[in-house]
Amino acid sequence: MSSHLKESVAAFSEKFGFLLGSGVPLVPSLETILAEVVDPRLEEVVRQVLGRIGEGTGFAEALAAFPDVFSPSYLGMVRAAENQGILDTMMGKIAAGVREGIIPVGGPALAAGDPTTAEARAAVDRLFDLAVAREATDLHLVPTPAGLTASCRAAGRLVDLESFSAALREPITVRVKFLAHLDLAEKWLPQDGRAQLTVAGKAIDARVNVLPVALGEKITISLLSRDPFRLTLDRLFTDPADRAAFLDLISAPAGLVIIAGPHGSGKTTTAYAALQTLHEQGKAVTSIESPVGMIVEGVAQAPVRPHLGLDWNQLLNAFDRSDPDVLFVGEIPDAETLGRLLKIALGGRLVIASMHADDVSDVFRRLLDLQAPPHLLASAMAGVMVQRLVRKVCPDCATDARVKKTDLAALGWRGDKPRAREGKGCDRCNRSGYRGRVALYDVFRPGKTFKDILAQGHSTRLDAALAAPAAPGRRTMAAAGATLVATGQTTLAELTRVLGSPDQD
Ligand SMILES: [Zn+2]
Repeated sequence: MSSHLKESVAAFSEKFGFLLGSGVPLVPSLETILAEVVDPRLEEVVRQVLGRIGEGTGFAEALAAFPDVFSPSYLGMVRAAENQGILDTMMGKIAAGVREGIIPVGGPALAAGDPTTAEARAAVDRLFDLAVAREATDLHLVPTPAGLTASCRAAGRLVDLESFSAALREPITVRVKFLAHLDLAEKWLPQDGRAQLTVAGKAIDARVNVLPVALGEKITISLLSRDPFRLTLDRLFTDPADRAAFLDLISAPAGLVIIAGPHGSGKTTTAYAALQTLHEQGKAVTSIESPVGMIVEGVAQAPVRPHLGLDWNQLLNAFDRSDPDVLFVGEIPDAETLGRLLKIALGGRLVIASMHADDVSDVFRRLLDLQAPPHLLASAMAGVMVQRLVRKVCPDCATDARVKKTDLAALGWRGDKPRAREGKGCDRCNRSGYRGRVALYDVFRPGKTFKDILAQGHSTRLDAALAAPAAPGRRTMAAAGATLVATGQTTLAELTRVLGSPDQD
């Protein structure tokens, strides 16, 4: 056991007790310590403890997430002191106990030696650095016969990062599991965990999923920024018509609004922009998420924590009692929750949910699959927004390109002279000809005819109704994309790649 860690934990406990005893509240005390702590390992622990406390976890409970630092006897004493409300006087005594060796630090993982090699630690640090530098949304580690390959998804596309030898496969896997507080010995069952990291000065929330596969364990890590979410609608919607449609959709006084898209389509960002906008309009917004994706200032965000007895049902009860104007749910988990959400929406409040879905018909198919009573769904449904992201033509190497007017017209474009452009490839765009991305939106507000069909619950008739020519005022994603092609912002090839075959609209 390292004496270095022992002194760090003792100093942390002593200082924490001193600050609490001087009347400084818990969170500011921890923030003060965070600003001064020198041990990088403890710094990360304090940072994560602060994050957990911010989500409503108690102090002892938050420390318990680090069994490799705080021993069972340390945690036992902190828990007892917290329960009795005497943390301020006890922490000093705990510090003395740690220094004298009466209270050990470190747990079995540390006692058995740090399970990860320096090489694996360096490799994992490097992968996080590379992924964050590319603004990747997720990182994938896949075992191969030769070892392990790492890739990340940046701007919606998978990019290879690095390959490792078979000797490093296990140590890298263990290192990631260690960071996410997972069971290091478990190799046969899937596991989910979370790590809060600081990468290149950015606070990153990493959700780790480990899936046993033939050659070992496949790891998927979703990367989310924990910096408070701020996004102006002007930045999100470059097209004023899209922005107006979005504002109109979320201005519904009551009902269910679904914000949908496939993985990596930016729908989460749009959903958070909706919450931020509604909050700025003076509405009381509450969210129930599993887990909280991004922090939105002014929005009451409640994470689902079934192990603490905070399941969907209880959080929805709490929501009913607090009576806000708007409820956001990250993903609708089951039929029972959907039933309750529909009642809340029909009771005069706006309910916004995000959903993994490819298009508008997919949204209704999934809602009906969740056993939503069709007549309730029809009454509650205020609207659907589906989105995709397409890559933008690189401004540094763009040249004029040819495009057939008839091809664009087939997608719903109604203009006259298209001015298409394409990137030839340059250093700034990695020779791809594309840089940055822009979203395509399809906003669907069901009218009476559609609601009548929906109330009967026939999904095939719904598909037929949705495939009919777009209602006045509705612009499909294909038409929105054709406009981007015609104005030189993206290419027909890119639009086809994202939307599939152009005639499927
Ligand atoms: Zn370029």
